[in-house]
Amino acid sequence: MKTFIPDNVIIRENALDYPLGEKLYNTFNESEVRTRVVSARGPFPFDNNVSFKKKYHRAKKTLVLSVRTLSKFQTCKPSAHYQLPLVSGCPGHCHYCYLSTNLGKNPYIKVYVNIEEILEKAQDYIEERKPENTIFEGAATSDPLPPEKWTGSLSRTIEFFSRNQLGSFRFVTKFTEVDPFLKLDHKQKTEIRFSLNSKYSIKKFEPDTPGLEDRIGAAAKTYNAGYKTGFLIAPIFIYEDWEQEYEELVKKIGKSLNTRGQGLSLELITHRFTARAKNIIEEVYPGTELPMNEEERQFKYGQFGYGKYVYPKETMHKIKSFMEKIINSYLPRAETKYFV
Ligand code: SF4
Repeated sequence: MKTFIPDNVIIRENALDYPLGEKLYNTFNESEVRTRVVSARGPFPFDNNVSFKKKYHRAKKTLVLSVRTLSKFQTCKPSAHYQLPLVSGCPGHCHYCYLSTNLGKNPYIKVYVNIEEILEKAQDYIEERKPENTIFEGAATSDPLPPEKWTGSLSRTIEFFSRNQLGSFRFVTKFTEVDPFLKLDHKQKTEIRFSLNSKYSIKKFEPDTPGLEDRIGAAAKTYNAGYKTGFLIAPIFIYEDWEQEYEELVKKIGKSLNTRGQGLSLELITHRFTARAKNIIEEVYPGTELPMNEEERQFKYGQFGYGKYVYPKETMHKIKSFMEKIINSYLPRAETKYFV
């Protein structure tokens, strides 16, 4: 997996008032990447007379430098207290990605350049909740790692939390450029989780993301550098060789990290989809083999009022007991946080 290099960079003009905005403007201006400065509000200078599919794919190659308004952080239950808005969007093309419904027709990769103000706002929330600990999630609307090479914002945030007694930080990624984090004095205040899947699922449904070995290799690095490290095994699919492949995956984690699971957290999520997501996915990834046959699923109302199609109860039981069995064999000391 190569470093994320956008085709276009759009700079909101107020982003230039911040050191990071100015630095990135200069960096991209001196490169071959097309940069355009636009007003602080209003539309981008793109031809909108193109298909949804084209807009979607164009947005995934467009980096936007923006200033985050700081009125309020979104809550982020149950994994954290608040979202930490550093990045939104992702250049990956996972067919099932929740961002395809959350970010609308133009899923730009947006980075917020007022990082110091964002961290000050996080400090306000920490003060408010004293003496409780406050947890911030850095990947609620993004995979935050691909633009990190340009922004350094995750490193800055890891350092911020390392000095903070009552705040902690976590994010999840499928990407692997973790080397800059290894030398940081993180004081175990940041948890880095890696999203993994079986070989078949990665090959079929996760284009433009790193392969399994690279992701586990990156996890081994953060684990050995003392970070709290975890894995999301998600989304779990049922197909012909699913048991064999998920077993290989769990075995490989134990072997590569040379652990029986000590200090590792696991989150297990089965595949589900909404009617809206299905429509979008079929339009932007025509020909996808993502299993989305409603008749093979059970309809379940979600907490936000819309329904989703999950595997039927018996299948869920089967997946759960199989996952428990292989985790007990290869990672018996890991903490499974939830299975859904
Ligand atoms: S890597 Fe994560 S955020 Fe990016 S497209 Fe895939 S599922 Fe979505």
